[in-house]
Amino acid sequence: SPHHSTTSIPYKELQAILLNEPKAEKAQEWSKYYTAGPHLAGKNYSQVLWTQERWEDFGIKAGIVAYDVYINYPLGHRLALYEKKKAKDSEASEWKVKFEASLEEDVLEEDPTTGLENRIPTFHGYSASGNVTAPYVYVNYGTYQDYEDLVNANVSLKGKIALAKYGGIFRGLKIKRAQDLGMIGAVLFTDPGDDGGVTEENGVGLYPDGPARNPSSVQRGSTQFLSVAPGDPTTPGYPSKPGVPRQPVDGSIPSIPSIPISYVDALPLLKALNGIGPAPKDLNKWWERNLGLKYKGVEYNVGPSPDDLVLNLVNEQEYVTTPLWNVIGVINGTLLDEVIVIGNHRDAWIAGGAGDPNSGSAALNEVIRSFGVALSKGWKPLRTIVFASWDGEEYGLIGSTEWVEEYLPWLSAANVAYVNVDVATVGPSFKAAASPLLNQALYDIVSKIPSPNQTISGQTVGDLWDHKISTMGSGSDFTAFQDFAGIPSIDMGFGPDPEAPGDTGGAVYQYHSNYDSFYWMNTYGDPGFHYHETMAKLWALFTAKLAETPVIPLNATDYALAIQGYISNVETKIDAAIAGTTTEESELEARGRPSPSAPIGSISKVKISFRKLHEAASSLLAAAINHDSWAAKLAEEAGEDIPWWKWFTKVKLYFHIRRANDKYKFLERQFLYKEGLDGRPWFKHVIFAPGLWTGYAGAVFPGLQESIDDRDFRNAKKWVGIIEGTIIKAAKSLK
Ligand code: GLU
Ligand code: CA
Ligand code: ZN
Ligand code: ZN
Repeated sequence: SPHHSTTSIPYKELQAILLNEPKAEKAQEWSKYYTAGPHLAGKNYSQVLWTQERWEDFGIKAGIVAYDVYINYPLGHRLALYEKKKAKDSEASEWKVKFEASLEEDVLEEDPTTGLENRIPTFHGYSASGNVTAPYVYVNYGTYQDYEDLVNANVSLKGKIALAKYGGIFRGLKIKRAQDLGMIGAVLFTDPGDDGGVTEENGVGLYPDGPARNPSSVQRGSTQFLSVAPGDPTTPGYPSKPGVPRQPVDGSIPSIPSIPISYVDALPLLKALNGIGPAPKDLNKWWERNLGLKYKGVEYNVGPSPDDLVLNLVNEQEYVTTPLWNVIGVINGTLLDEVIVIGNHRDAWIAGGAGDPNSGSAALNEVIRSFGVALSKGWKPLRTIVFASWDGEEYGLIGSTEWVEEYLPWLSAANVAYVNVDVATVGPSFKAAASPLLNQALYDIVSKIPSPNQTISGQTVGDLWDHKISTMGSGSDFTAFQDFAGIPSIDMGFGPDPEAPGDTGGAVYQYHSNYDSFYWMNTYGDPGFHYHETMAKLWALFTAKLAETPVIPLNATDYALAIQGYISNVETKIDAAIAGTTTEESELEARGRPSPSAPIGSISKVKISFRKLHEAASSLLAAAINHDSWAAKLAEEAGEDIPWWKWFTKVKLYFHIRRANDKYKFLERQFLYKEGLDGRPWFKHVIFAPGLWTGYAGAVFPGLQESIDDRDFRNAKKWVGIIEGTIIKAAKSLK
């Protein structure tokens, strides 16, 4: 009837709008805006206002939420290699500079935002100021096990400077371990061996002439100890509002200085170690991978450099407590106590940031603009949708973490899911990490989104995706939602194609370097911006599904099955520990964490408790299957869309659906443990956390796994009990 059509529009019609509205050219325009100049955290207020104005133009109410946070800005740096030389005609010797690193990225004529007027120095977020001079050691990727290998090979580390490659684990943890072992500074470099074969060595042109890494490119980035706690390190667990009390930062950010460098600057340092100390072949296979500078004459000996060959590392940082700003937009739904939050960060380390994060910002604007078009056609969502443009992600997920800490009571009561897109696209490979509750919704939506890369006409994103969904780790703004507030979250985007060697056109993503620019995106990353458009469609449709279907499209069975799988994996790990063997997989995992060989002791007691874990998981599975099938029946009865005015004519169905939805909404919360994980109480989720020594990669049952890694079986038993308790609670919550 005419009355109804002015009240809302059907879900199918909404989907059609969201599939047709996002435009590559628009995304390109937004990308151009965001990447035209520096927008470091706390220094991007014009972009805050611009973002708010655009969203208002699109028809969405938007406001600014500010926090006062403790962060650093760069003042100065230096890296020089000194050699002690006998002075001519004398017994005395003197120190000579053998090499002075430029610490600068090349200005490229083709790429306008690499110019000096746009320059943000190469530095590390949350790095310590300092001026240290010492011999140095090459520490491979600087994983926990890499350092263990050096200790076992009797390489002296104390008092030395670490020279580590980027890659594998979160950069701050490379520095944390160096610091724990008494090292006094750290230098992190990018090795082209980690560029998947898209290298000069293989004949690929160097950026800007080709898609291989520019040799001067430097990866900036935060060195906060993110597996301990994200957010403002001076306000763990509560929002950084002006005037709040501040905690000391020791233990959550480095105390030794560090700087990032390019491979051009790393070459002389590495070469100077040739022939000194163990070579990769003297250590193990983990040292022999991706040695991308061999063709330049680097042998990758670890050193340490002799006492007459030392590095001088200077890092000067200014620490301030300064405002940063989230832009928050809202579309009120019919239901105010069922809320979907979607977000992307806006701040970048560099003038550009065309991949990280502003491919996501451009896509988000297209999502919001498309929802605005739907609103103008009379759509009113069933659930409330909140849009977020976060600030300060790069330093440590600050904008999102402070916001979740501030609105925790409301989010706990109302937030159904959080949908994060950080890097929307820097390549053609779709990737996702999610709470298992969201798997089915994602499988459904990817099958509806046409792929920009169709070898067979009609192929969807789903057709070209392996359907692997990773567990939640950290490294982007979903962390506070998932791990602190227990809100089912997903993180997705298109990444580089790991299978594409240089000669088939794969481009190296110049992460956190000056060359992650609009010019790079337009030339190599996403020429034509079709993947931007695709990501906007996917994100919009996924959000619409969460917001519109009468029964919340979460799937409890998938969670229960996943938990059963995780339990089996831990058991396998314990069995392997008893047998003294390691699987390839557990060995790979072990690179990022300690696995001391210790007597197995009372492990049989732990095994007994596992039976209880299995029982709990079975009861959760039974309850989940029951709940999902009840929900499926309700969904069928309601139809795909039940306009809100019909709720009042189907009161009984309404109450059943509301009850079913409540159970879905609160299921993830059951896995929170108030006291948090051992030694890192901010992390409350007992099933997922960032790996203690990996950061990005997620750990499952972190409390339990870490106890096993430490051979602390009393504590392992404690964690088995805690986990069992939450699983039983989860099962009960569904009944
Ligand atoms: N995306 C940021 C990075 O990987 C996150 C930093 C952090 O979590 O501290 O550098
Ligand atoms: Ca805080
Ligand atoms: Zn990012
Ligand atoms: Zn980043």
